[in-house]
Amino acid sequence: MYKDIATPKRTQEILKKYGFSIKKSLGQNFLIDPNILQNIVSHANLTKESAVIEIGPGIGALTEHLARKAGQVVAVEIDQRLLPVLEDTLSPYDNIEIIHSDILKTNVEDVIQEKLAGYKDIMVVANLPYYVTTPILIKLLMEKLPIRGMVVMMQKEVADRITASPSTKAYGSLSIAIQYYMKAEIAMTVPRTVFIPQPNVDSAVIKLTRHETSPVDVLDEDFLFKVSRSSFAQRRKTILNNLQSQLPLGKEKKEVILAALAEANVDPTRRGETLSIQEFGNLANILLPNFK
Ligand code: SAM
Repeated sequence: MYKDIATPKRTQEILKKYGFSIKKSLGQNFLIDPNILQNIVSHANLTKESAVIEIGPGIGALTEHLARKAGQVVAVEIDQRLLPVLEDTLSPYDNIEIIHSDILKTNVEDVIQEKLAGYKDIMVVANLPYYVTTPILIKLLMEKLPIRGMVVMMQKEVADRITASPSTKAYGSLSIAIQYYMKAEIAMTVPRTVFIPQPNVDSAVIKLTRHETSPVDVLDEDFLFKVSRSSFAQRRKTILNNLQSQLPLGKEKKEVILAALAEANVDPTRRGETLSIQEFGNLANILLPNFK
């Protein structure tokens, strides 16, 4: 086996060799602990029949661990300066392809069709750039890609919000937006000391797994997210008051919302944070015809 990229010593050597200056604006915090990397990869349950899409390979620390377990890895990196570095560090592996692109502007469905044809088991695995964690996740989920799930590292506070259950402080519209698409759980927490440079927050790895059956049949996903965002607009307000002040539902607004809440079996004095995804989904379906 080749020597790991992600030891503190080798990482420093690589950065020095290329005179690479880390760009904080691109969320560049490189992992320097091979045990943590192995642990992350183990949560993805990869075999040689699996393919992986990685976002932000950096200098290849996670990428090489993925390549050892999976059949094929495609990694999307925005920073052109990393391309020659990756070509060097990942040269021992013949099952990695690097795409120089912004993941937010990449048609991932095309990538899967063009680069991963033949793979039925596809996972997204990444140590995400923290400044764009949420937009990346939402984009990938809304595209309804043919993936089994994701194992992704992010700032712990965001991981807590994504995986939160109703009636907890962290539960909110982000929990609903993600959990509507996939089951979400925290796989492990990661201290800030295993990165170069050290971020000023702790991190967590979350595991997202495609639902076997959708938690609720929703007529209009955008409207579900609008209703949930509106319900959390002011956390201390009741769901009735929040919906009334946030949603354009015509003149008879209050009556429409009260009737919909009654039909959905939701007490109007409850707060948004107590509603499950199923309750939000039913409520959105009932309110939809009145939405102008
Ligand atoms: N995977 C490496 C590791 O674990 O050490 C690096 C992870 S670092 C937290 C995030 C990486 O994402 C950086 O390499 C950064 O250049 C890249 N990146 C930032 N924004 C990106 C974007 N919009 N699309 C693709 N890659 C991006």
